[in-house]
Amino acid sequence: MLYTSTRDKSIKVSSSEAIAHGISAEGGLFVPESIPQISMDDIVRISKLDYIGRAKEILSLYLTDFTAEEIDSCVRGAYEEGFSSEKVAPLHTLTKGTEILELWKGPTCAFKDMALQLLPHLLTVASSKSTPDKEIVILVATSGDTGKAALEGFKDVKNTRILVFYPNDGVSPMQKLQMTTQEGSNVGVCAIEGNFDDAQSGVKKIFTDKAVAAKLEEKGMMFSSANSINWGRLVPQIVYYVSAYCDMLEKGAINAGDEINVVVPTGNFGNILAAYYAKEMGVPMKKLICASNANNVLTDFLKTGHYNRKRDFYTTISPSMDILISSNLERLLFLLSGMDDALVREWMGSLSNDGAYDVNDEVFAKLQELFDAGCCDDEGTKACIARTFEENSYLCDTHTAVAVAVYEDYKAVTGDETPTVIASTANPFKFGKAVLDAVRPGMSEGMDEFDMVLGLKVETGEDCPPQLADLKGKTPRFTGCCKKEDMEQVVFDMLK
Ligand SMILES: *Cc1c(COP(=O)(O)O)cnc(C)c1O
Repeated sequence: MLYTSTRDKSIKVSSSEAIAHGISAEGGLFVPESIPQISMDDIVRISKLDYIGRAKEILSLYLTDFTAEEIDSCVRGAYEEGFSSEKVAPLHTLTKGTEILELWKGPTCAFKDMALQLLPHLLTVASSKSTPDKEIVILVATSGDTGKAALEGFKDVKNTRILVFYPNDGVSPMQKLQMTTQEGSNVGVCAIEGNFDDAQSGVKKIFTDKAVAAKLEEKGMMFSSANSINWGRLVPQIVYYVSAYCDMLEKGAINAGDEINVVVPTGNFGNILAAYYAKEMGVPMKKLICASNANNVLTDFLKTGHYNRKRDFYTTISPSMDILISSNLERLLFLLSGMDDALVREWMGSLSNDGAYDVNDEVFAKLQELFDAGCCDDEGTKACIARTFEENSYLCDTHTAVAVAVYEDYKAVTGDETPTVIASTANPFKFGKAVLDAVRPGMSEGMDEFDMVLGLKVETGEDCPPQLADLKGKTPRFTGCCKKEDMEQVVFDMLK
């Protein structure tokens, strides 16, 4: 299977090249030329396998230039240890017909681990095939969770360096501590004055700058990406949607062939795009429901076909979704337009020049058929956390709560009773203040982050994962903060 670019269809590369480079030279994103199919018989068969077995089946359909041994060792390296659930991505029944897919059992307690525990292994194999003798420099822009998960995945991985930029006022105190205390000899972390979109645009600019690439080349280095623009981030995410369907079969929540809905709290559109790929592969899905916080650019887009990032940016209690430019939408537009690279170039051009674009009627009709969308502000998010805890004895984090609230609205409006999987993307202790404020208003007053963890534990009876509790008392290693214009300089300083 070959991969092509969303902005130049004449480009054809192997999966190793797509993963090693991260982004195509002209700025497009790599996508497989066709979507591999999986039959219901296959799904029933792999239902009997564990997560590692399921992952090997799915990945081998996409990474066709990896040997079976390579895929096996990558997948084992990622999922055999480090996850606190034997099932890796378990389902929790919220109410009859509604399953929560818990994607945060990994080392950093956010769903990014599902991909970022695997990506360093994939990247190491990919670069040994397509770019041997090069040291890979991973540049990351993060709204909080990617940074930590990438640092943890890449720390001390041979022949790699990792540099993370995060918005100084755009991450939770726990997220910040997780990153600034990161250990490892090949890691660097820097805050920037600006929001996530500034960090992401800055990183993208450095990536595609030819002069920068030449300077790196001299050092025997090359850039790659651990953001979800890298196909190696997306492909591991397809696995858990197939796996969730398998688990629903196994627990008798559905029969083979039954459709499910999938609800995803969305920022950069990577997670929900993986669900779309699973659907196109053959997993029976009815609606993909895209949930946003107050930064509801995607809700408007999916309801109108008009994408407009020219709007106020809100810093919310679900910071990993505080995004106005959802990069992975580009891949969806490429697929829905019948792989029309010229159209994608035109739309992405007007997004970067005018901050907006309109899709054509054909693409809009497909969007409407596939997706539903809704949004929920901070008040609604807190109310949903409190309600879900009171009524279902389930404590969810702020991002997951956005999805639960949007799903409740969807169900009320449509009356759709299709069995549904809600993606749960972080452990609630990662966003302790907001979650505590939701379940016990006023209690967090005057408390520090770790008092709040304790408070939340006492009030809810839930346990804080040790990797978060243990941050107490650690001294930050990385305290720098730069202007967005200075990011390139910071990169070269860190690479010295
Ligand atoms: C990254 C993240 C999201 C958004 O996922 P996308 O793939 O960017 O849409 C949602 N919730 C949490 C907790 C995250 O870390």
